[in-house]
Amino acid sequence: MKKSALILTTEKRLFEACPPFLLSLIRFFAAHGERAYPVGGCVRDTMMGREPHDWDIAVTTSPDRTVELCAMLGLKTVPTGIAHGTVTVVFPDKSTVEATTCRTDGEYNDSRHPENVTFTGKIEDDLSRRDFTVNAMAADLDGTGRSFEIIDLFDGASDIEKKIIRAVGDPEVRFTEDALRILRAVRFAARLGFEIHRDTEEAVAKTHHGLHKISRERVSSELAQILTSDSADGGIRLLVDLNILGVTLGLDADEPLRLNPSVQLSSLDSTLPLRLAALIMSLDLDGDKADAVIESLKLPTAVSDECRLYLSAQTADFEVSPVGARRLRKAFGDSTYNLIALAEELSLCNLDSASAAQLYHLVARSEIDGDCISLRQLALSGDDLITLGVPRGRAVGEALNTLLEQVILRPELNTREQLADMVEKICNYSSKNE
Ligand code: ATP
Ligand code: MG
Repeated sequence: MKKSALILTTEKRLFEACPPFLLSLIRFFAAHGERAYPVGGCVRDTMMGREPHDWDIAVTTSPDRTVELCAMLGLKTVPTGIAHGTVTVVFPDKSTVEATTCRTDGEYNDSRHPENVTFTGKIEDDLSRRDFTVNAMAADLDGTGRSFEIIDLFDGASDIEKKIIRAVGDPEVRFTEDALRILRAVRFAARLGFEIHRDTEEAVAKTHHGLHKISRERVSSELAQILTSDSADGGIRLLVDLNILGVTLGLDADEPLRLNPSVQLSSLDSTLPLRLAALIMSLDLDGDKADAVIESLKLPTAVSDECRLYLSAQTADFEVSPVGARRLRKAFGDSTYNLIALAEELSLCNLDSASAAQLYHLVARSEIDGDCISLRQLALSGDDLITLGVPRGRAVGEALNTLLEQVILRPELNTREQLADMVEKICNYSSKNE
C-alpha cells in the first residue's frame, strides 16, 4: 500500500524526536529478537506536529523479560503495573518510559485497569485494544535502524487528516467494555479540535448509562483534564450536547442543566478548583447541588476547599476601594486575583471589566504597601492583649478580630500604641456593659 505523505514525514520526525536512551533500548530489544514500539500518544502527537509529552512503548517481551533486558543495559525498572504488563523503565537522566507487554484486554469493571489481560506479544492485538484510531498507531524500527515505520491498522493517520475521533472496532462494544472511553473521546476531541465520528457519537447515546458504573476517581480525572485544558469550553459543551454532563458531575440523570453561554472557562486561570467553581456557577447550581458535585468528584481536600472558597464569591462584596481590596485579600488571600477574574467572568455584583481592572490595581497596591490583612500581621499579639488585661479565652480572639477590622479600615492604626489604646477602649466598653 502506498504510504501517505503524513506517514512518511511522521516516520522521519519520530526518529528525530525519539529520546536517544529510548532509541538505544529499542535497538537493544531488536538485537535480542524482540520489538519495542513507541505507541499511542507519542505517535499521534508527532503526526500532528506536536511535541509528545511522554513516550509509551509496547513490547513483545513478557514483563519479566522486559525487566531482564533492561537490567542487562543497567537500567532500573519499577513494576508499576506488572499484572497488566507495565513496567516503568528509568533512564540515567531520570526520564522514564512505560513499557507494556503487547496484550489483549479482558473486561473492564470499575477500576483503572481491565479485570484480566492476556499477554500475546503481538502488536496487532495491542493496537486493537486501544480506544481510538488516532491513539492506535505504533512505530517500528525499520531494517536500517535509522528510521521508523508506522503501523496504522485502523487508518489513524487518515482520521488525523480528517480531524476525527473514531473508536477502534465497534464503538458500542468498546464503550460497553469501558464507558470511560466516552469521556476520553470528549477530552481528545476538545483538546485536538477534532469532531467525534458519527457512529462513535451515536454509540455514546446507547452506552452512556455505563458511566454510572465507572469509579468516580477515573471520571473525576477525565473531567479535570477537560476543565483545565485550553479547550475547556468546547469539552464542556460536548458533554452537554452528548447529554453526559450530569452523570459526569454525579448529578441525577434527569437534572436539567443549562450552561450560561456568556461564561468562558478558558478565560480563567487553568487551575481545577477555579474552573470547577466557574462551571458550577455557570450552571447556576444551588448550594446543596454544588456540594454534591464537589463530594461526588472525590477530589483532594485542598482542591475541594479551594473550590468552595471560590464558590463563596457569590456572596462576597466587590467594593472597588482600598478597603474593599483589603477585605478581599483578608478573605481570599492568594486566591484574590483568581476570585476577581471569576467575579468578572460571571458578572457577580455587576462587576465589569473596568471595575475588575481597578480592583486588581488596588489589590496589587495593597500587597506592595504590605497592608495588614491577617491577625498575625497585627502589631499586637494575643499574649500582648492578655498582658493589657483582656481576659483569657474567647475575648482575646474577639478583640483581635475587632482590631483587624479597624486596621483594614485604617491601615495607619497598626502600631502597638494605637492598638493598645483601642484595646483599652474595647475593655472599658465591655466591662461597662457587663
Ligand atoms: P495524553 O497525551 O493525554 O497522555 P495519551 O494518548 O498518551 O494522551 P493516555 O491516557 O496516556 O493517553 O493513554 C495512553 C494510550 O493508552 C492511549 O493513547 C490509548 O492508546 C491507550 N488507552 C488509554 N486508556 C485507554 C482505555 N480506557 N481504553 C483503551 N485504550 C486506552
Ligand atoms: Mg499519555
